[in-house]
Amino acid sequence: MPVKVAEEWLNICGGCEVSILDIGEPLLDLLPKLQFVHMPVLMDHKYFGQTGEGTQLEIPEADVGIITGGVRNEKEKHVAEAMRKSCKTLIALGSCACFGGIPAMANMFTLEEVYEKVYRGSKTTDPAATPSTNLPPLLESLKAVDEVVKVDVELPGCPTVPGLIVEALTALLEGKPFALPERSVCDECPVKREKKASGGTIARPLRSVEFKQGEPWENTRCYMEQGVLCLGPVTRAGCAAATDIPGEAKVPRCVKGYMPCRGCFGPIRKGANPLVDMMGAVTSIGLDAKQVLDRRALLNRYLGAQGRLRPLPTKPAPRR
Ligand code: SF4
Ligand code: SF4
Ligand code: SF4
Repeated sequence: MPVKVAEEWLNICGGCEVSILDIGEPLLDLLPKLQFVHMPVLMDHKYFGQTGEGTQLEIPEADVGIITGGVRNEKEKHVAEAMRKSCKTLIALGSCACFGGIPAMANMFTLEEVYEKVYRGSKTTDPAATPSTNLPPLLESLKAVDEVVKVDVELPGCPTVPGLIVEALTALLEGKPFALPERSVCDECPVKREKKASGGTIARPLRSVEFKQGEPWENTRCYMEQGVLCLGPVTRAGCAAATDIPGEAKVPRCVKGYMPCRGCFGPIRKGANPLVDMMGAVTSIGLDAKQVLDRRALLNRYLGAQGRLRPLPTKPAPRR
């Protein structure tokens, strides 16, 4: 009997769906063992019956449910709850589903401020009233899936890594548990580390790292030690699986592209505070943590749900 899989996308960009489709050849081995019963990116399966004849949102029963994206509006909340009801095991796939992801940066603002900015504060669009009909109401803030329903397996990453989806599905097919190890991206990074920065200054964002194309990784200096802010020390390992090519070194995904880690796999363990931990990591190699600009947003870039990013209280006006 094939394992039934249902998939849903909530507040997303679609990149995590592409990761599923990007599994490539291993998907051919998995497909005979799986039966996709619901997947909006692949099949035209309506919530209320094919011609809208249903009165209740229905998602077919499945052994495994996969949700991408966080929960921003009432419709997404309803769909997440229906998925939980229909699926025995629920996977949150991608950083948006696990921690809110980039859309949850809006959690730094109240809902009213978001509406004001989008509909009246943008220089490139004509001011308009906030739409109020025929749209599901937005929640006050964007939520990670586990703030709305119980999640059994988290597969973070923006987008997540196709190989990890295969690993997780294979483990579930074999009845084994699946969880990413509690290690950091640095633990999987082969670059040369001297435990001190080569200068005392943190580089401006997007300054390129220094490297020689084709040089062995052991000869390339750690990007943080070059003064380029790299979130490897406080980010969970796993993305190096994306670069697992026979005969080549396994390297974290961004590092392999000569870019620093931006933290998309989230904290090394549940409840860790990457902002505080990163300040410690920066200071420990002799860099000045005060030079990190916009720390709150930068170091919580993918983690805005679960109360991590909230509107700051407004400061009282100065006394005259
Ligand atoms: S985690 Fe990244 S790739 Fe996946 S849906 Fe969110 S923004 Fe898109
Ligand atoms: S800080 Fe970045 S470049 Fe340095 S070891 Fe960690 S992941 Fe690699
Ligand atoms: S290096 Fe960091 S930002 Fe890049 S894919 Fe890996 S965890 Fe995500």
